[in-house]
Amino acid sequence: MGRIHVLSEQVANKIAAGEVVERPASVVKEMLENSLDAGATRIKISVEAGGKKLIQITDNGCGMVRDDAMLAFERHATSKIRDAEDLLSVATLGFRGEALPSIASVSRLRLETRAGEEPAGTVVEINGGKIARVEEAGLPLGTSITVRDLFFNTPARKKFLKSESTELSHIASLVTHYALAHPEKHFELHSAANAMLVAPPVGGYSERVYQVFGKETLDQLIPVASRQNLEHVGLPQPPPWRRQQLEDYEEDRDVRAATPGELRIHGFISKPEIQKLNRNSIFVFVNGRLIRDRLVQHALTEGYRNIIPPTVYPVVLLFLELPAGEVDVNVHPSKTEVRFRQQTVMHDFVRDSVRAALMKARPVPQFVAEIRAHATAGQALTPGSLTPGADWGQPSAGNALADTRLSGAPQQPGAPAGFTLEAPMPPPISGRLQFEGGIAVEANAAIPVARGLENLPIAGSREFVPGDTCAPALDVGDEEPTLSSLGTLRPLGQIRNSFILAVNEDGLWIIDQHVAHERVLFERVLKQRAVQQVESQRLLMPIVLELSPAQQAVFTEISEELHNNGFEAEPFGARSIAIKVAPAGVEASAIEHLLHELLDQFSREEQSLNLEKIRTRIAASIACHAAIKVNMPLEHNKMEWLLSELARTDHPMSCPHGRPVVLRYSVKDIQKAFKRI
Ligand code: ADP
Ligand code: MG
Repeated sequence: MGRIHVLSEQVANKIAAGEVVERPASVVKEMLENSLDAGATRIKISVEAGGKKLIQITDNGCGMVRDDAMLAFERHATSKIRDAEDLLSVATLGFRGEALPSIASVSRLRLETRAGEEPAGTVVEINGGKIARVEEAGLPLGTSITVRDLFFNTPARKKFLKSESTELSHIASLVTHYALAHPEKHFELHSAANAMLVAPPVGGYSERVYQVFGKETLDQLIPVASRQNLEHVGLPQPPPWRRQQLEDYEEDRDVRAATPGELRIHGFISKPEIQKLNRNSIFVFVNGRLIRDRLVQHALTEGYRNIIPPTVYPVVLLFLELPAGEVDVNVHPSKTEVRFRQQTVMHDFVRDSVRAALMKARPVPQFVAEIRAHATAGQALTPGSLTPGADWGQPSAGNALADTRLSGAPQQPGAPAGFTLEAPMPPPISGRLQFEGGIAVEANAAIPVARGLENLPIAGSREFVPGDTCAPALDVGDEEPTLSSLGTLRPLGQIRNSFILAVNEDGLWIIDQHVAHERVLFERVLKQRAVQQVESQRLLMPIVLELSPAQQAVFTEISEELHNNGFEAEPFGARSIAIKVAPAGVEASAIEHLLHELLDQFSREEQSLNLEKIRTRIAASIACHAAIKVNMPLEHNKMEWLLSELARTDHPMSCPHGRPVVLRYSVKDIQKAFKRI
């Protein structure tokens, strides 16, 4: 008995329609999702010429019986949903029954498949949408689909394809990220004769990150894990086609409300010192589906607010899980966008989870701030170098998570809103490593070796000969400084009257005196504001400010909050205001500048202002203008005071604008530099 059926026209019409086959990576995505939906635990993908010439995907999933193998190429033929109600809670990655027919209509496709129910397998060949051959064959269980000459019959679309290396990088990024989402499965990606990824099953997500990107990347990431109960599960709004029948909808909702539901999030986010220039390193999966979503992006930005500057982005690999009925996946043809039913709940959950993870880790910026791929794993898994004329500027051991993408085609600001499933995966080196058969084992063998070394005690991995008395091993203990270590800092002096040098058992620290004080004041103002007690000072002479129309508009909007933050201002003529009282610590000469800056900042803001944002900005501005400046000599006790105040803040590591406050040169770094380890 076949599993696939053609959806009724009425259901088919409710499906977000559109072209799914845009480029080789979209073919890979659709087929990969089909393999996962088929329960495959081993998926091997081979491509040639960036997928333009050939894409082959072989899985050990449930396969298809002969009738299904034919039916699968009909439009809207699917085994995954039956009726419109099923669209409300799709549990599979596919559901529209459009991918296979679309791909088959623009390529030469060969399907080989066998399901457990049938003794023999089926081969189907389709050229440009026309069935060329159907026959029986002895085949292993599972499915293999080969797509050759993509867009051979649609030259206009073919013309839009990018270089082979670019198309390959999209595919590599996609496969890598699906591999990250399914650590328990075996994934392989080969391009021509080179293995770009060979990832046998591992025990968990962090092992997978380690396997694919190496230790250094893993070290730069903070794990995130939290869960939250949902008060109700189901639609806050009836779906459009049910609006007339509100009554049954309400009934349904009562049933759904009784079903307990939970939001879960897990994955990794980068430490604040990792700052990417675009969103290409943000990967978010919702119920196993790689998506881009403005709501989640916004929640991430909010989570990192005042921890990294607003113009840069973190590295994110997050998996969100929620009841299938809580997310509408039927909103975009290529299923890369979703709509959450309870948007605010979702948004705040993501923001708070990210924030909590950052607070918990409270990481200290290191001198080496840029995330890099681990050389061993990078080479083993992505044997890369430059092909002449390739799109990459440098032969990094690149991967989506690990590359800042300074090289290659520059990202236009705002061009791809969200990720474009692209990653700078370097094209293969010819002749560097052969990855056929047993060699894959060797490639992966590099990982345990590397891990073994990492676990050795520091003295044990030194290259010096034993008995090298010139460099006795130091007992450095735990390398990761905790924040409490800030409390033990002893100031030594200043560099150029701007940076405080301090030491403790963790190493040598450099503290930017201005931003350190800024952080202290920022948190103080926010706390005082929360209890309506911001300290203020009456000015000897009111300061009169002339405002532009835009500034005036903002001033009206935020004047109450300014008042709550210790300002007293009155209209003074048509376009001016007179400031009579200002927050304590801000010099009279700085007040005018502070207010102009603040009003300008808000007037440039594209999104609407919310109270929290206004409060934070005002506090940040006051802190900035009241803080100790650079080029200011500090007495020893003043430095001690500043360091102890800083140690008491919630976020001592970055200023309200997201810049780092302290840098640490760890004992390990020092030992390395002296070649003791
Ligand atoms: P959808 O995934 O939306 O159902 P597709 O066109 O991608 O639509 O696939 C049509 C049907 O073909 C699927 O519903 C599934 O039953 C079957 N199918 C496709 N790929 C595989 C596979 N790798 N293994 C088993 N069945 C598959
Ligand atoms: Mg599909």
